[in-house]
Amino acid sequence: MSVTTTIKCDRCHKEVKNTEIKSININVADGANNRYEPSYSYPVKHADWCIDCCVEMQVYSPKKKTDEPTPPPITIEDLVREIVREETS
Ligand SMILES: [Zn+2]
Repeated sequence: MSVTTTIKCDRCHKEVKNTEIKSININVADGANNRYEPSYSYPVKHADWCIDCCVEMQVYSPKKKTDEPTPPPITIEDLVREIVREETS
């Protein structure tokens, strides 16, 4: 018998398998050079997003064909705004 866990995306509210969800975190770290040291960072905001939302918001990109058009880049401000919007709604 196998058990499948489903999780609801914090952004689009679609239910997906736990293997199809990504943890999105905004961390704050001391000093400019600590961005690669997670033990020195402090989580400030968190959201669980499905892969479709991650791709739409450009925080995750599965391998794709090179001839596909690239969407315009999303700014870090847009990304933070999206995560905070989910926490306040
Ligand atoms: Zn989603």
